[in-house]
Parts: sequence; C-alpha cells; structure tokens
Amino acid sequence: MKAIAVLPGKPNSVHLTDLQMPRVSDVPNGRGVLIEILRVGVDGTDKEINAAEYGNAPPGYDFLVIGHESFGRVVQVGSNVSELKPGDFVSATVRRPGKSLYDQIGHYDMTMDDTYYERGINLLHGFLTEHVVDQPEYLVKVPPGLASIGVLMEPMSIIQKGVVQAYEIQRRLRLWHPRRAAVTGSGAIGLLAALVLRLRGIDVTVFSRTPAPNFKAQLTEEIGARYVSTQETPLMEAARQFGPFDLVFEATGSARVAFQSMEILNKNGILILTSITGGKAKIEIPGDEINLRFVLDNKVMFGTVNAHREYFELGVKDFAHAEAAHKGWLGKLLTNPIQGLDNYAEMMRQLTEDKRAVKVYVELKPVVV
Ligand code: BGC
Ligand code: ZN
Repeated sequence: MKAIAVLPGKPNSVHLTDLQMPRVSDVPNGRGVLIEILRVGVDGTDKEINAAEYGNAPPGYDFLVIGHESFGRVVQVGSNVSELKPGDFVSATVRRPGKSLYDQIGHYDMTMDDTYYERGINLLHGFLTEHVVDQPEYLVKVPPGLASIGVLMEPMSIIQKGVVQAYEIQRRLRLWHPRRAAVTGSGAIGLLAALVLRLRGIDVTVFSRTPAPNFKAQLTEEIGARYVSTQETPLMEAARQFGPFDLVFEATGSARVAFQSMEILNKNGILILTSITGGKAKIEIPGDEINLRFVLDNKVMFGTVNAHREYFELGVKDFAHAEAAHKGWLGKLLTNPIQGLDNYAEMMRQLTEDKRAVKVYVELKPVVV
C-alpha cells in the first residue's frame, strides 16, 4: 500500500513509498484494530521533519512515514476488542508509552524518558498511508455527527491539554476566574485555542501578523473574539488596550513572541507555551524586567506538548459544544484539502507556501456518514 515518507536527516526528501498492509494480528492478545485512513492533517512538525530538523525513522527502516493528525474508520477488530467495532470513526493519539512512571499510568505525554516514540514523528511510522493497525487504548471514537471535522482531533487535543493544565496549575490561587485571554498566532492551533477559551466565556484577543480584513480575522470575529494585527498594533500596545491577560496561549512558533508574551500577563496570570522552535536563533530580552514582574506578580508559565487520550476525549466534547454554539465554524478551518497520497508534493507546497491556509490535509477517502 502507498505511504508518504521522508528520509530523516535528508532535507526535502518527501516521497511516495510502499508499505506492507498491516494486519489485526500484528497486535498480540487479540487487541488489534485495523483502520482505513480517511483524512490526515499536516502541520509545522511535518514541515520541520521534511526539512530534516526533526524526526527519526523506526528501527530497521531508512524512511519514516509521516502524518500524526489522523482520522479513519475501523474495518476490523481483534477477538479481544470490545471498545470499538467496524464502522466506528476514530482518531489515534500520537505518542506511545515509554518506561517512566508517567508512561505506565497512561500519561505518556508527560514522559521522563529521553527517547520518545511518536507515530509519524519519531521512531514510529505515521498515518499518511492507506491502513494502520493500533490498539484501542490509543484510539478515540469520534461520533458520526463530528466526522466531517474529525481530522482536527489531534490539534484539538493539544489545546485541551494546555488549557486543562493551566486550570490545574491555577488551583494554587484557590479562586481563579480568567476574564481576558490572549492567543498569539492564528494558525489551526491559535484559532482552536481561541474557540476553546471563548466556549469558557473568556474575552479573547487573537494576535497575528497580517492586517484585517482577511479570512483568519473573519474566523476570529465569528466566534466573538478580537483580531489584532501586530503589524498595525504592536503586541505591547494592544495589551495596554485589551489586556492585561489572565491567560496567554502562545502558538506562533516564534521564541521572540513567546518571550514578549511574558510581558503581557496580568498579576497571577498564566502563560501556556506550545511553540516547537527547532532553530538556534538568539534574541535579546529585558531580563530584569521580565523576572521582576514574574516575581512581584506571582506569574506562571509552562510548556506543554502532545496529549494523552483523555485530552482527545475532552476535545470531542468541545467539538460538540462548538458545533452547537457556532455551527459550521470548525469545518471552515479545513481550508486546503489535497486529494490522495499521490499529491504529496502539492501537500508540502501548500503547507510551506500558502500563508492563508489554516489546515492542509490529505483526503484519502470521502467521509461518508
Ligand atoms: C504534535 C505532538 C508532538 C509534538 C512533538 C506536534 O506537532 O502534534 O503530538 O508531541 O509535535 O513531536
Ligand atoms: Zn502536530
């Protein structure tokens, strides 16, 4: 069967390869689930993997099948699987457990291991192929009513983890009702973060470079959030107008913005860092000032990566909430469909060049409910 792969360590090596069809029996104890892949989203991580900045091939292979934002349909289950049945729509988690205590309790996204295993990213093949086999532990059911946006499950899980952890951390305050939030970046992660915060009744300002009017600004305003172009109004100035922010969700991919975000936080505020910055750039920061405000204002910042299945399940709930509150909005994020695995070059091109794209994804088979 066909698959889209890269040669890790070799820039721009994305190509079509051939992979053996997996079988339910590949997983021991009758716990295998065979899935036909319907759609797979791509993001900055895939870009970095193809630029040879990130990612490793599985043992015994010189290539890595990419794609970690999966959506598919169960076609066959092993004799010992009761959680899923043929016909169910599913999205798979990305990381697989290693050895640390966190891995052992299902919190593999918090692993203490140095080596981590992620499907489509590191040491495990991903989902940009026709069929995959996995275990029910790593497969989250997507109700048919949400199938049309099921390919957004994995990015949504990243936001759920960030926001849930922020609330967990803020229990230190005994009482915390965030009123104003900022989201930096208006890619799929930024827009989904804005949505999740709006669903919690928070006043949200999204910061992005491009001046409005544009499609991302329109999407932002449709959910009752505010769009600010940092080309027109610098972050610090806009923060004086619409902040300070009790919560900042940083999702630009830029360390510079991540450090600036530390300066727009309210007293007792919390900054969620999600940008994976693979480069080596150095920046100058007002260190004394930032440190002083963190200390005197009891601020917190934390990094968050990946997500275990509970966050996918919370994502399903917020998708249902969002569809009830803003019908059709999530579907508008699916801006760049690519037809079939053969069009891998066009997929990479749109991912790297189309600045207006929210979500580039490959459509392998139509989603029929
Ligand atoms: C993925 C995460 C992953 C991270 C680091 C992101 O693009 O969505 O699941 O943990 O990259 O590899
Ligand atoms: Zn990703």
